[in-house]
Amino acid sequence: MKTYTKCPICDGETFVDFIQCKDNTGSNDTFNICKCSCCKFAFTNPIPLHSDIAKYYESKDYISHSNTSKGLVNFLYQGIRNYTLDRKVALLQKLSDGKNLLDIGSGTGEFLSRSKEAKFIVTGIEPSKTGKDQTKDNFGIDVNDEHHLANMEDGKFDFITMWHVLEHVYDLNKRVAELKRLIKNDGHIIIAVPNLTSFDAAKYKKHWAAYDLPRHLYHFSPNDISSLVEKHDMKVTQILPMKFDSFYVSMLSEKYKTGSTNLFSSFIAGLRSNIHGISKQQCSSQIYIIKNA
Ligand SMILES: [Zn+2]
Repeated sequence: MKTYTKCPICDGETFVDFIQCKDNTGSNDTFNICKCSCCKFAFTNPIPLHSDIAKYYESKDYISHSNTSKGLVNFLYQGIRNYTLDRKVALLQKLSDGKNLLDIGSGTGEFLSRSKEAKFIVTGIEPSKTGKDQTKDNFGIDVNDEHHLANMEDGKFDFITMWHVLEHVYDLNKRVAELKRLIKNDGHIIIAVPNLTSFDAAKYKKHWAAYDLPRHLYHFSPNDISSLVEKHDMKVTQILPMKFDSFYVSMLSEKYKTGSTNLFSSFIAGLRSNIHGISKQQCSSQIYIIKNA
């Protein structure tokens, strides 16, 4: 295990315990999240060594990298993902006419493929072998390991997307500095992460599925994202809600809490997240549009 001695955002050295949660996808190990006393950033601490984390992604219940359609939650996840893929591509098209797209953490390649169909020039980065293989097999797109980022030329991309990826990344500041280096002057970085200040996080507490320990290393609030990118001379220009995530995460949280996917209760929780989300940035997950400052 690796223990942080400094806050990844403000370098503060005093932390308080925030919450302890179980890994719900197989290992049943318990992990700790602490909060920086200075900037209030919440991060998993200690974390598994980078060389040990792979085993926590191997559970057959962990669906982000697979395409199995078993079970109601997975079934809904797949259907919603299909719809949101189109919404994601439409978001890019609305932001600018740029076509050079880097998707970091491209998973099994659905977003890369959908973007390519919409005439984007796509580059994918994905650490998992299963993800890489499926992207090649299903869509004929080659993707590379993370270390290829270092070989890419400065200011190459109009868009860099990280859909539910930043919360998994070791060496957070190095990665954000890399994004800054790779984005064009007027380019857009699009980061989607779970929202610690969401209604469903407050409702489900340690059962909130988006803690997803130990795979999620950071548990961002909107303020944390702003502070992080401002450190690297960038700024958040827009925050958008991910409405379907509220329902999905509430359903999964309900399953962790009660052992069953109580559809009515999780639907109400998702709905309340969205109602609050629109006015108070309390959606389960949010999209941050980031530009050079
Ligand atoms: Zn801090």
